[in-house]
Amino acid sequence: MTRPRVAIVGGGLSGLAAALGCADRGAAVTLIESRRWLGGAAYSRFVDGAWIDNGQHVFLRCCTAFRGFIDRIGSTDQAHLQNRLSIPLVSPGGTRAELGRDDLPPPLHLARGLFALPGFTLRQRLQVVGAVQALGRLELGDRSNDDRSLGEWLAGRGCAFESTARFWELLVRPTLNVDPRQASLAMVAKVFQTGLLESRDGADLGWGRGPLQTLIGEPALRALDAAGAIVRVGEQVEALRRGAGGVEVRCRGEWQQYAAAVVAAPPAVAEKLLPPEAGIDRRGLRNLASDPIVNLHVFYDRRVMDEAFVATIDSPLQWVFDRSAHAPGFDGQYLAISLSAADAFCGMDQRQLRELAEREIPRVFARARGATMTRFLATFEKNATFSQRPGTGRLRCGGDVGVAPIFVAGVWTDTGWPATMEGAVRSGNEAARRALGWLRATEPMGASSAPAQLDRGMAAMSGMEME
Ligand SMILES: Cc1cc2nc3c(=O)[nH]c(=O)nc-3n(C[C@H](O)[C@H](O)[C@H](O)COP(=O)(O)OP(=O)(O)OC[C@H]3O[C@@H](n4cnc5c(N)ncnc54)[C@H](O)[C@@H]3O)c2cc1C
Repeated sequence: MTRPRVAIVGGGLSGLAAALGCADRGAAVTLIESRRWLGGAAYSRFVDGAWIDNGQHVFLRCCTAFRGFIDRIGSTDQAHLQNRLSIPLVSPGGTRAELGRDDLPPPLHLARGLFALPGFTLRQRLQVVGAVQALGRLELGDRSNDDRSLGEWLAGRGCAFESTARFWELLVRPTLNVDPRQASLAMVAKVFQTGLLESRDGADLGWGRGPLQTLIGEPALRALDAAGAIVRVGEQVEALRRGAGGVEVRCRGEWQQYAAAVVAAPPAVAEKLLPPEAGIDRRGLRNLASDPIVNLHVFYDRRVMDEAFVATIDSPLQWVFDRSAHAPGFDGQYLAISLSAADAFCGMDQRQLRELAEREIPRVFARARGATMTRFLATFEKNATFSQRPGTGRLRCGGDVGVAPIFVAGVWTDTGWPATMEGAVRSGNEAARRALGWLRATEPMGASSAPAQLDRGMAAMSGMEME
C-alpha cells in the first residue's frame, strides 16, 4: 500500500506547516531545504558561546495558526505569552510609561493605555483615539485601502501624520516593517482590527523564551521525523516540472517523482521554479519589493535593563529585548535591539552601528553609563519581509495559484495577513489543504489505503467529524 509522495520545497514556517499538514494526514512527505537548518527567516546560530537569533521575533495571542503550529511541534512551553498586553515604554532621560490593556470590552480596553501615552497633548491623544476607531471601521476586503498609505489617509482626515507620528512609530513600524507614513492602509487596518480591536486580548505579546531554534527549527524537525517525513537539508531544488505521475523535482541534477509538490520558497525562487502553466503573475512577483531589519546584539558586563523588553519613544533603538538566556554562563546582560524598516542602518558597518549603540543605549538606560560593552554584533536581514506599502496587495498571489499537482505557499501569498509568522503558517496550512484535496480527488478509489487516510485528513482540516 503506497502513500502519495508529496515534496515540500523550503523549510521556513510555511513549508514546515505544509509538510506537517500533509504528513499528519497520510501523505509520504519529503521536505527539501537549501540551507543546512530549518526555520527559514526565523533561525538562530551559535556564535562564540551565545545563541544569536537572526532577528527578534514576537507574535500575538491572535496569531492562532502560529500558536497551533508550535503546539503541534511541541514547543509551546518554549514561548512566553503575556496574560495581558503590557508594553513598557522608555524615553531618553529614562521617562517610563506603559501601553497596556484593561479587561473591558473593546475598544474600551485600550482607553487607559492610549490616554497614558507619554508626551502627548490631549489633542494628540484624541486624534490617536479617533484614528484607531476609524481604522476599526475600514473594510478589510476593500482593495482600495491598499492603494492608500497611512500618511495619506490621516491627512485626508485632517490629521497630519507628524502630530501623532510617535504613536504609529511605536506600533506600525515594528509590526509592518515599514516607515509608518508609507504603510499600506489595508495592512495597518488589519493589524489594528485583528490585533487590537476584535478582542481585548488579541494583542497580548508572545516571544520565545530561548533562541528561535528551540521554538521552531529543532522541534519542527523532531515532529516531522515522528510523522514519518523525510527532511533533506542543504539541498537546493533546481527545477520542477509536471510529469506523467504528478510532478518531478530536480535536485543535484537528478529528477525525482512525486504525486504533488508545494513550493514554499521566497518569491524570487518561486518565480523561477514554478512552471509557466502555474498561472503565476511573474511580473507581480518581480515587483514585490522587500524591506530590511537590522538587529544589534549588545553584551554588557552587568544588567542595564530590568524589563524583559521595552519599546522606546524618541530613540532610534525602537524595541529592546533582554536575551541573556541565550548566552549560557554569561553573567552580564545580552540585549537584542530590533530595528525595523532599517534602510538607514543597512548602509552602516559594524563599527558605526556599535557607535550608535554606545551613544544611544545610555541615553535610555541610565545604568549603561557605568557599564562596559563587552561584545557587539549586528545582524542584517536585507529582505526580511515583503514590502507592506500601498499597491502590495495586488502583487501577492492568491493561495489558489499554482496548478495541480504543484501548489504554492509562503508568507508573500495573499493570506490577508502582513509578513508575519502567522501569515506563513496560514499559507502552509492552506497549501496542505489544497494538495490533500487534490490527491484525494485524483487517487483511484480503493487503490490503496491512502484515500481513506486523506479523507480523514481533509475532514480534520475542515473541522468535520469523521466516524
Ligand atoms: C529579522 C526578522 C525579524 C522578523 N520578525 C518577525 C516578528 O517579530 N514576528 C513575525 O510574525 N514575523 C517576523 N518576521 C517575519 C517571519 O519570520 C517571516 O514572515 C516568515 O518566517 C516567512 O516564512 P516563509 O516560510 O514564508 O518564508 P521563508 O522563511 O523565507 O522560507 C523559505 C525557505 O525556502 C528555502 N529555499 C529557498 N530556495 C530554495 C530552493 N531552491 N530549494 C529548497 N529550499 C529553498 C529558504 O532557504 C527558506 O528556508 C521577521 C523576519 C525577519 C527576517
